[in-house]
Amino acid sequence: MDCVFCKISRREIPAEIIYEDNDFLAFLDIRPLNPGHTLVIPKKHYRWVWDVPEAREYFEVTRKIAVALKQVFETEYVVSLIFGEEVSHAHIWLVPRLKGDGHGNAINLKNVKQINAKEMKSIGEKIRNALKNN
Ligand SMILES: [Zn+2]
Repeated sequence: MDCVFCKISRREIPAEIIYEDNDFLAFLDIRPLNPGHTLVIPKKHYRWVWDVPEAREYFEVTRKIAVALKQVFETEYVVSLIFGEEVSHAHIWLVPRLKGDGHGNAINLKNVKQINAKEMKSIGEKIRNALKNN
């Protein structure tokens, strides 16, 4: 199947992976709305988040990552978004809101940030470390 997230799960497309277990994978979005913008997906292909039978585990993994993002970016809040229309593989967005990003107002979905590969690696490293220590 020609699904970009399945390809990331199978390591056929590179991604900055920050978390992995038997069923779920989390990686940095290449079109981030902020540094640390993460996608949490089931490894198995499901069309919608609502199709994932392990909903409890999915939410627990998402929560764990959100807590790590809060720590790494020293922010009070991380927004979560579920659209599902851009890529047809279930995914949850986690975006840390930061001082100076207009936080307090709804996130601007058009405000994609440019973050170079080196910076993405370093952000990934920080999140992985935070997850390890939690
Ligand atoms: Zn897929």
